[in-house]
Amino acid sequence: MGDRFVGILLFLPVPLVLWLFTRAPFGVGRSLVTGVAVMVAHRFVARPVALSSAARRCMWCGGRTDRTMPVRVADPAGTVDWNVCGATHHDRLVATLGWVSRRRRLVAAGIGGAVLTFLPFAWLAEAGVLGPLGYGDAVAWFKGLVAITVLPIGWIAPGSSSREPSGLRLPFPAHIQALVGTLVVVWLFRFVGAVWLVEALAHVVRR
Ligand SMILES: [Zn+2]
Repeated sequence: MGDRFVGILLFLPVPLVLWLFTRAPFGVGRSLVTGVAVMVAHRFVARPVALSSAARRCMWCGGRTDRTMPVRVADPAGTVDWNVCGATHHDRLVATLGWVSRRRRLVAAGIGGAVLTFLPFAWLAEAGVLGPLGYGDAVAWFKGLVAITVLPIGWIAPGSSSREPSGLRLPFPAHIQALVGTLVVVWLFRFVGAVWLVEALAHVVRR
């Protein structure tokens, strides 16, 4: 229970950053800078904690495991042997990560591209130098791009065929999903992805 609690606690900065980016509660400039600062700082705290519990937690369900069924995953921050609690969760994890791994450039372009284009887009729109485009348009662009990237990961990847668990390479740091379990992230992708897609489309229609 301790690992799960700490994991959830350390996962909270992720929705916090998304809230700062998409709601700009402290004004656009200050909110974006704060969000980026939290993102950068988070890595240095969350990754060591996730790695320290990697052997005793299931990377799929986030639960405790006494078994040793390593699943080796390479991500931008390094290569880690994560663990699972049994054969079923092993297969789901390998299926999901394998699906993403085979499309990692596309996923990197979707999620990384969303962040990298949103920040200057929002900043410049708020400064009034993008003509009719405002901060709300930048948010709709961000939500739409993230949504069409994560919805297939949430709905299609877990049910895809599980291939051999070797050569798994993720375009985003795996420790974030390890904090709460990949299953929770899959459900967040399904739910938040759907809401964000609707919000982005509604914004376009309203405009
Ligand atoms: Zn499990």
